[in-house]
Order: sequence, then structure tokens, then C-alpha cells
Amino acid sequence: MNIRNIEEINQKIQRGEATVLTAEEVSNLVRDGEEPKAEDIDVVTAGTCGIMSGTAAVFHIPAGEPGSFKKAKKVLLNGVPGFSGPCPNEWLGSVDLIAYGTSRSIYDEDYGGGFLFKDIVKGKDIEIEVESINGEIIKSTTNINEMGMARMVGTRLAFKNYTAFLNPTEEPVASIFNAVDMEGPFKGLSFSGCGELNPLQNDPEMKTIKTGTKVLLCGSEGIVLGSGTRSAPEKPNLMIAADMVDMDPHYLGGFKTAAGPEVFNSVAAAIPILNDEILKNTFILNKDIPLPVADIRGRHKVLGFTDYASVWTNNDERPVYDPEACLNCGVCMVRERCPTGAYEGTLNEEKCFGCGMCASSCQHGAFEMKRGELKFKMDDEVIDVPIICRQSDIKRARELTGELKKRIIEGKFSISGWY
Ligand code: SF4
Ligand code: SF4
Repeated sequence: MNIRNIEEINQKIQRGEATVLTAEEVSNLVRDGEEPKAEDIDVVTAGTCGIMSGTAAVFHIPAGEPGSFKKAKKVLLNGVPGFSGPCPNEWLGSVDLIAYGTSRSIYDEDYGGGFLFKDIVKGKDIEIEVESINGEIIKSTTNINEMGMARMVGTRLAFKNYTAFLNPTEEPVASIFNAVDMEGPFKGLSFSGCGELNPLQNDPEMKTIKTGTKVLLCGSEGIVLGSGTRSAPEKPNLMIAADMVDMDPHYLGGFKTAAGPEVFNSVAAAIPILNDEILKNTFILNKDIPLPVADIRGRHKVLGFTDYASVWTNNDERPVYDPEACLNCGVCMVRERCPTGAYEGTLNEEKCFGCGMCASSCQHGAFEMKRGELKFKMDDEVIDVPIICRQSDIKRARELTGELKKRIIEGKFSISGWY
């Protein structure tokens, strides 16, 4: 039975009286032996940040003078191919297009759609090349302020946690699930998922997060359009759209992998506490969330299980760089491997994703980062496998979850009234 409704929660938000906790704050109370009561909490915020391959963006961009070309056949944005249409924009000198976060620039193999989206949200000038159906090449420059539209559409975001991967073979394997070819056998493990902070982990039956729910996508107020592709009751994910104009570039970007460019972004959701059952779902703890460990060559071939406490407890959010220990090697493996380009002789904290590749790549101790290792049981043998690549960023997830909590407390974010 409900003890309050959305309207009552929104009235409390407007009066500045709503009690809002993050999902981690609830989990910490539970870890401390307390049992929070639904009467005492109005909203729980939850969030995630990680590689979300199903990320695209829809743009309407000026490309030339009206009448300068009839219709675009090909479009490049900073060298990243987009798909023009569906509207032909005949003789308008502009192009409607869709670009993928996973597309690679034809000019720079380290640059892809995720990096492009970040640059657009930052307000940087973007080089546009249009090839018309008549073969004309039209070059121009634009930025987000000149675009008629810049909207992100995620076809499968905020998965309810995910999978860890390792390579059980002698042969290195190139995959989107590791920043570089993964060495084997059992040399290292990559994983995704923000555990007990994840929105759908805190609302596993999607009682409050569903079509029409307002969320934050990379800091911008977005809307859940419905379930995402390949979403299933036991492994749900969300399709979400939000304007890029209102996004914070901190929460999205590109991520290089051994199998091409990827894109990361961040999602936070507000769970209205309408009854005890909804609150109790937020009591979930990392130790109780299974993390399947799969063969990186075939992600459905599960080799064993661990849990999210094993990957997120007592580990560092970020590396510490010691310039004194740096030997200025001729070829720096950190520069080669850092998936976000965060190391350029100094550590760029804003670009850093906390993946941990630097700590396992520098052989001279210039990067320190506690990432942990897993005891992985296989065929009665226990193997220690170090975590070498995190594809989720718990720091950004915490920041966006806290940002949503702050907006609700300040009366700047109301709960969707679809009930
Ligand atoms: S590999 Fe390590 S020591 Fe060598 S240049 Fe890179 S950070 Fe410095
Ligand atoms: S943790 Fe290291 S490798 Fe990963 S993004 Fe940060 S600097 Fe780059």
C-alpha cells in the first residue's frame, strides 16, 4: 500500500522539505545494521557511468548557403561519419543526420563518436564535410550554438550491471571489453557496472523507472523512451533521450578499446519512495549482486561468478601519478594505452576515467592505483586475477547521483508524474 503519492513528494520538494538519500547512503545505513523506513525517505537517487555502446546523437547542422547543394550523400564531423537523413533537407544548405558514439574518424584512428560528442557538448568548433548527391564537397565549421538540434539518443543505457571478462587462452584477444588486446591465460580481468548504485539495480522491477520517467543523462534532463535494445526482465536497460545543449561534458566522452572507439556516458534516476517495497529494493548491497565472469571471446560463455563487493570495495577511484618516478621512456605505454587520452606527460584529472590501465601499463611505478584482484575458482583451482580495466567509472556515477540529489533538495528537479 502506498504511503504517499508523487504529488505529495513534489509538494515537499517545492517546499524544500523532501528527504533525499543516494542509493549508496541507503546501502551504508543497511551495512551499519539499520533498517530505514519509507516514512522517513521521500526519494532515493541512483546512478551509473560507463561504456554504453548504444549511444547515438541526432543533429541538424548548417553546412552551406541555402541552394548551395541539393542533398547530402555523405557527412563527416571531425572526420567521424554520420548518416544523413531521414529528412532530405532539399536545397536548404543544412543536414539532418545521426552519428554513432562508436564510429571512428577516417582521419584519426584514436578519435571516434564519443570524443566528438564531448567536443560538441564542450562548445568546440567542429569541422563539417558534406559530399552532395552531385559530388560537390562542401566544407564548413559549426558548433553546438549554431546547430538546430543536438540530441543524444541512447538505445541501451544504464544496464542493470553487467559482466566481467577474462581471456582463458594463450592468444591475445582484441575486444571492446578491454582497452588493449587482452593477454591470457587469466592475466587480467575487465568489468563493467556500478553495483549497488545502479538505477535499475535499485528498482529491479522497474516500478518507478519506466517510459516517461525523467532522468539525468550526462547532466541534462532527459526522458526514458522505454526499454532499450536486448532489454529483458532479468537484464533490463533503458532507451533515453536528452538535449546535448544542457549536458555537462564531464559526464561523457570517448574511450578507446582494442576493437575500436567506444563512448561513455552517465545516467542518474530519482526513485520516489511511495511504499516500503520500493524502499526495500534500494537496500541492495554490492556483496549480493552477482558479477558473472565470462570468456572474452564469447561473452555468453560464463566461466564463474564473483560479486560487486569484490571489485569496488577498498579500491581507488583514481590513480596517483608520481612525476618523480617517471623515466620519460621513449615509448610511454601509458600514453599508448590510456583510453581517454588523460596522460600527456601530466595526468589530466578531468579526462581520467579511473579505468586503471595506467597502473598496469607503467612498469616503473609512476602510476599507483589499488584496483584489486579476484580469486577466481575454476575446476577446483583458485586463480588470482588482477583487475586491469574498469569500463565503469564509479566516481562520475557518484557525482551525478549526488548532483541529482542536490537538484531535488534545491527544488530544481521534480519527479515525473506518470502514475
Ligand atoms: S611508461 Fe611510466 S615511466 Fe615511462 S614515460 Fe610512461 S609514465 Fe613515465
Ligand atoms: S585510470 Fe589511467 S589509463 Fe585510465 S583514464 Fe585514468 S589515466 Fe588513463
